[in-house]
Amino acid sequence: MEKPLEGNEQGSNGRSAVKAAAKILVLFGTRPEAIKLAPVILELKKATHFETVVVSSGQHKEFLSPVLKVFEIEPDHDLEVMRENQTPNTVLADTVIKLDSLLESEAPDLILVQGATSTALAGALAGFNRDIAVGHIEAGLRTGDLRCPFPEEMNRRLITQAATFHFAPTAQNRQNLLKESVSDKQIFVTGNTVVDAIDIARKKKPSGQVVKVLEMTEGKKRVVLTMHRRESFRKRMREYLTEIGDFVERHEEVALIFPVHLNPAARKIATDILAERNRILLLEPLHYPDFLHLMENSWIILTDSGGIIDEAPSIGRPVLILQAKTERAEAVMCGVARLAGAEPEPFREVLENTYFADSWINSVKPMQNPFGAGDSAKKIVEVLTGISRPAEV
Ligand code: UDP
Repeated sequence: MEKPLEGNEQGSNGRSAVKAAAKILVLFGTRPEAIKLAPVILELKKATHFETVVVSSGQHKEFLSPVLKVFEIEPDHDLEVMRENQTPNTVLADTVIKLDSLLESEAPDLILVQGATSTALAGALAGFNRDIAVGHIEAGLRTGDLRCPFPEEMNRRLITQAATFHFAPTAQNRQNLLKESVSDKQIFVTGNTVVDAIDIARKKKPSGQVVKVLEMTEGKKRVVLTMHRRESFRKRMREYLTEIGDFVERHEEVALIFPVHLNPAARKIATDILAERNRILLLEPLHYPDFLHLMENSWIILTDSGGIIDEAPSIGRPVLILQAKTERAEAVMCGVARLAGAEPEPFREVLENTYFADSWINSVKPMQNPFGAGDSAKKIVEVLTGISRPAEV
C-alpha cells in the first residue's frame, strides 16, 4: 500500500490495519448518505475479499426505500431509530445504543460512514468506543463556522477525530484535514461518490410524473428549488421563500418547481408562503433519477443542499446557494455555483441581476466535475483492499 498505517497515528484508534477478508459495516440513515454510499456498497459487494454488512439507521425512513430501490440494495439490518418529533440528539443516542449491540454480534473490522449526519456521527462514535476502525467518506469539508451548516459542521469535525481513514473528495478537503493535524498517511483524495451515483441513476428512465411536470412547464424558465437546512428554518427560510415567490410573480416566463422536504418545519413554511400561487408547483420529494432529470431541464437551481451542489457540475446547470457560506467552494470556483448570501435585500438583487444579465446562466454547461470523476467508489475500495492486505504491498 502507498501509505502503510502506523499503529500510533493520530486518530487511528490503536488499529494499524484491517485483516484479510475483512468485514465492512456500511452505515447510512438519510437520502444523501444512501445515494453517496450506494456506489461504494455495490463496489464492495463485487470484491470477494470483503464481507459487507449494510445497515440503515432509519433516520429518514421514508426517503430511504426509493433510493435503495434505484441502486438495488437491501439493508441487512434496520435500526429503526426514526420517531415522531425526533431531534439530532434522539437520532444520535438511539443509533449509538442500537448500533452498539449490532457491533457486538457482527464484530466488523471497519465501519464506513458518510458525510455529516447524526447517523454518521453515531457510527463513528460507536465504532471508536469499540476500537473498530472508522472510514469517513466525504471527509474534510469545512465552512469554518460551527453554526453553518448546523449541526453538520460540528458532526463532521467530531467524525474526523474518531476516524482512522479519511476519504476526502478534493485536494482542498485534504488541506483542511492537514490543518487539523490529521496525518497525511490517513487521508485519501478519492473524489465524491455522488458523481458515481449520478452515472448509475442516469441509466434509469425518468417516470411519467416528472415528464408531466416538464410538460406543464414547457417553454418556461424552470427554477428548481430545494430548501431544508436546520439553520435556515424560521426567519431565514421565510425570507428566502418570500423573495422567491415575489420573483416568480414578477416574471411571467418563470415557473417554480419545489419538491418539498419531508421535514415538518420545512413543509409548514413552504406551504404557508408558496402554496396555491400561479406558476408554482409544490411537489413531494422526487425519486432520484427524476430529480436529476428535472435539474437537467432547469433554468437555474436554488438550494441549500450540499449534495445538489456536488452534482451541479455534472448536470451542467447553475446553482444559487441559499446560504451565506459554503464548504463546497470548488463549485463556485468552476463557475457553476454562486452564493446568494443570507440577507433578503441582496438576495432580491441577486435574483434580478441573474434574470436580466443571464450570461452566467447561459455559460454553465456540463463539465468535468471538480468533486469527482465517477471512479470514487473504486478508489475507496482499492484503498480498503490495500489496508486489508498489507503483505501484498
Ligand atoms: N434529491 C432527490 N429528490 C428530491 C430532492 C433531492 O433525489 O426531490 C437528491 C439530490 O439530487 C441529492 C440529494 O437528494 O443527491 C440531496 O439530499 P438532501 O438535500 O436531503 O441533503 P443534503 O445534500 O443537503 O445533505
